[in-house]
Amino acid sequence: MRRFTEKRLLVATHNAGKLDEMRALLAPYGVEVSGAAEMSLAEPVETEDSFIGNARIKARAAVEATGLPALADDSGITVDALDGAPGVYTADWAETGHGRDFPMAMARTWSELLATGRAAPFHAQFRCTLVLMWPDGHDETFEGVLPGQVVWPPRGAEGHGYDPIFQPDGHDVTLGEMSAEMKNSLSHRSRAMQQLVEKVLG
Ligand code: IMP
Repeated sequence: MRRFTEKRLLVATHNAGKLDEMRALLAPYGVEVSGAAEMSLAEPVETEDSFIGNARIKARAAVEATGLPALADDSGITVDALDGAPGVYTADWAETGHGRDFPMAMARTWSELLATGRAAPFHAQFRCTLVLMWPDGHDETFEGVLPGQVVWPPRGAEGHGYDPIFQPDGHDVTLGEMSAEMKNSLSHRSRAMQQLVEKVLG
């Protein structure tokens, strides 16, 4: 695995929350982090059918636009009884044509689960794939998985996306009921970042 020794890194996300989280994790290693929005990068279309494929599209677009090494992520929820759906289509299930509607996406997840005729617990995972790409096109990939179950009705007003219907294994609250600090200590994204830090920076 190639070690990361550059001084600057572009985090290819327009999501301010993700950027802050990654910046905080990388700060102890002296890496100066810039975000896609401050570099006025366009968001590429995610045309692949895997998390890694889509993360690679975002990383490559950022490297090609700036010449800087870039870190991109792709994430979503996979539900076992739905054969891994919504998976890479997690955000698409919330799309309305005028913004994202997550209560609608959560209701669809639950109604598709009921339609299977199966019984709880509905095992599921939040997954995050990171692609770290160097200007010469070399990349290293990392994956973080948070196992849990889909519950109904939604609980909690913290977090975002599908958090209110996801209860991580070993906890009796949903991600929507956890403080940001608690969630960040166990999330799929922080698990993937931990891998990156240990393998290429540590
Ligand atoms: P992307 O990785 O930004 O493309 O996000 C994929 C989708 O997964 C988004 O719609 C998010 O709402 C959802 N998602 C990713 N991580 C989380 C999480 O930690 N909690 C809730 N939803 C998430």
